[in-house]
Parts: sequence; structure tokens; C-alpha cells
Amino acid sequence: MPELPEVETVRRGLAPVMEGAVIARATVNRPDLRWPFPPGMADRLSGRRVVRLGRRSKYLLADLDSGETLIVHLGMSGRVPVSGVPLGQFHHDHPAPEKHDHVVFDMADGARITFNDPRRFGAMDLWPSDRIEQHWLIEKIGPEPFSNLFNEAYLAAALKTRKTPIKTALLEQRIVAGLGNIYVCETLHRAGISPRRLACNLSPRRAGALVPIIRDVLSEAIEAGGSSLRDHRQTDGALGYFQHRFRVYDRETEPCVTPDCRGTITRIVQSGRSSFYCAQCQR
Ligand SMILES: [Zn+2]
Repeated sequence: MPELPEVETVRRGLAPVMEGAVIARATVNRPDLRWPFPPGMADRLSGRRVVRLGRRSKYLLADLDSGETLIVHLGMSGRVPVSGVPLGQFHHDHPAPEKHDHVVFDMADGARITFNDPRRFGAMDLWPSDRIEQHWLIEKIGPEPFSNLFNEAYLAAALKTRKTPIKTALLEQRIVAGLGNIYVCETLHRAGISPRRLACNLSPRRAGALVPIIRDVLSEAIEAGGSSLRDHRQTDGALGYFQHRFRVYDRETEPCVTPDCRGTITRIVQSGRSSFYCAQCQR
């Protein structure tokens, strides 16, 4: 599943092509992805200027000059090839249409943005911009990790009420937006906290200390995504998810990278998901 850094990387790649640009024509090739598209989606998008391309958790939010916001979730396999843009980064002519090109934006300046999603776990919806926080996909999501609302006191208080392992608590989108399995494993390793420890048993000091660590882990991943955009190693001009090197995630039986730790990374299953951690230095 994509997590916040992957979606932010796609946003940063798309922003120069979309912000301020007019969608001359939107082509919608099927009635749905994970859920049905909103009624008249192609007509409601065509001719509209994108005022701003934002992000909330794992959703891209394209604010339109119609007062509506296009909400996009790329699902598990979403890719966004961009073509026909003379920005230096992409020099491609429009490629031949592919099988899973579900929605295509032809921008007024000649750029083409294609939403390709073979597994169709993605989603798109249109919603009034001034009520975006009330959309059913967004209303239950907690604070963004880089916002002021997400601070030491907030996180310590939120974790105090959870009688679940800390791993499970940090995956709750209601506590913090956008964290998934990979970055929770990485965060707990850096914090020296066992994923099995009950959230309510963490001292306020250790709980609060997770805030800057979460931000560091996410910032580094966003930076890595940015450099993969620059080298455009991903693509063919396609914006998609990247993989970078992790300290614990997917490193079962490998040595721990914590200085002076002689531990080995173990995998356990918690709430049906793999947790990778070092039992030596994570307590
Ligand atoms: Zn270790």
C-alpha cells in the first residue's frame, strides 16, 4: 500500500503540470475504480482550471476553479504517466493508450496526464472544496504528521487511551494520517521501542519523542522520492511509487544497523501485518 511519502512524491511531480493549468478535456474510460465515479465526472472536470494540487493523508486533492475538489487515491498499483510536457523532465510524445488507462486529462497546454491502475483499488471523487474535511474518506482521518496539531502532548494523550500494541496504534489513521506498515516499523526501530509494547504503557516522554522521529522518517522518504523523480529512474515519464532502503522493513534475519547492537531483525505478525524489529535494541 502506498504511504504518505509515495503520495507526496507523486504530488510534487504532478504539481508543476497541473497547478494553474486548464483541463481541456477529461476522458473517463470506465464507470468506476474501487467505487463508482461521481455522476458526470468528465463534464465536471473538462474546462476547469486546477487552482492547487494538495494532499491529505494518502489522497491527492486537486482544487478546481468550479469550487469542487477532485479527490484521487492511487490504490495499490496506480501510476500516473505524464506526457507532452516541455518542462525538461518529460520530453515524451503521447504514448499509445494502455489497457488500464482509466482516466485521461488532456491539459490545454498539450500535457497529458493518465491515471493507470491495473488492480483498480484506486478511487476518484468530486466534492465541494470548502467541505473537503467532511468527505467520507477524509472525515475520520487524524492530524497530518507535519501539522502543528500533531505534537508531543497530542500523541502522548492519544496513545495513553490505546490498549493495543504501539505498532497497531500508529497504524490507526485516526491517530496520525498517512503512516503505514513500512514507516511505522522504521519509526519504532529508530525510537528503540518494541512494536509489541502496549501503547498505553509508554511514558509520555517516550510517546512524545515519536513525533520528531515520525517526521524525520517521512521527510527522508520524501527526499528519496524526490531524488528518484530527478533521476527519473522510475519512468518513462510515469509518476508512481518508489522503494528505498529501509533499516528494518523486509530485512528479516539481517543484522541490526543500530551502532553497537549485535541483534538480528525478526519478523512477527501483528493484526495480520508483518512487523520487523530488533528485539535487542527495541524495548
Ligand atoms: Zn538492534
